[in-house]
Amino acid sequence: MALSDAEEVAALARAARPRRMLVIINPVATKMSSRLKSLVVYALQGRYEVTSVDTEGKGHAIELCREAASSEYDVVVAFGGDGTVNEAANGLTGSNTALTCLPGGSNNVVAKLLGISTDVVDATEQLLHAADRWAPRTVDLGAVNGRHFTFAAGMGLDAAVVERVDAHGKHLFLRFEGGLVIHSHLRMTGKWRVRDAHWQPPGNTWLLLARQDMLVAQINGPVLELMTASRARFDRRLAQLGPDILAPELDEAAFLRRLREDDPTRPIGDALIDQRVIAGIGNIWKCEGCFEVGIDPWRRTGEVSDEEALAIVRATRTRMQESVREGMHERFKTVYGTAGATCPRCGATIRARGQGEGNRTTYWCPGCQR
Ligand SMILES: [Zn+2]
Repeated sequence: MALSDAEEVAALARAARPRRMLVIINPVATKMSSRLKSLVVYALQGRYEVTSVDTEGKGHAIELCREAASSEYDVVVAFGGDGTVNEAANGLTGSNTALTCLPGGSNNVVAKLLGISTDVVDATEQLLHAADRWAPRTVDLGAVNGRHFTFAAGMGLDAAVVERVDAHGKHLFLRFEGGLVIHSHLRMTGKWRVRDAHWQPPGNTWLLLARQDMLVAQINGPVLELMTASRARFDRRLAQLGPDILAPELDEAAFLRRLREDDPTRPIGDALIDQRVIAGIGNIWKCEGCFEVGIDPWRRTGEVSDEEALAIVRATRTRMQESVREGMHERFKTVYGTAGATCPRCGATIRARGQGEGNRTTYWCPGCQR
């Protein structure tokens, strides 16, 4: 079989000697097994001069990497999770030895960031290909107190006591003595857990608070910010009320901004009665506004265009202004309260179902509201 031109060039470009590779294996990483270790090392020996070594505890990978750098290894492979990569990076920083990784842990964020497959077999294959296309890149590391980190740093408030916890809707404010505040929002993915002190928090724990016999963990909640108390007060004022639907000039830009800051998976009908998105639209008006412009109140806000969202708000505003002038009349209600009736526009049957946190009964026509 003849080699293609590209393959011939690649073959010629291969190093005269195989590159020296140190594979640092975390033997207790989540996805590790001795069979997997041997298979990976065996495969890598096809293209590299491989030495492999198991780590024996915290900090060991840092030492191994310092040695690897001083004995001029070409590359270190951190085979484990993000913890192994982090130690390896600390040992190699500033040296000419390249660092790469193979995913073997429960968290392999660095591997993902570098475009390395989360499947070990595929990742090994990528590494074999890299022998022909050798192009190490320089990356920045963060540093805190002399220790480097690749993408995230854990941080502790120095034994500050939580004085109070306030909830504002789904926003939670943890107030520490000394005026620091942590703001948390769980959105769709997060949860709080209270467990005894022996509990092992999962890897995606964003915040862990401890007292003598208890741990409180915020797990996978995408909003977590540390701020001063005065900043928190300012933010809360901002967070409180969206633009007023009945203001002389409706601030449409502010409405859209707040709508887009909100959870995109939330149904549009639910977002419209959230006073932080837009102030003043009640449940009846939300149903009527969505019906008037033919938008399904169950559609996710992320799938509602700016024009559609504005159309609902403008229609609602017009009706509400009329009712302010003339008083609330039954004639303003076309769809609200009519579950089971025939839609005056398309003839389908009007439906009703509770929506959102407040479980507010929402009326809509499945025939002509899309
Ligand atoms: Zn209809």
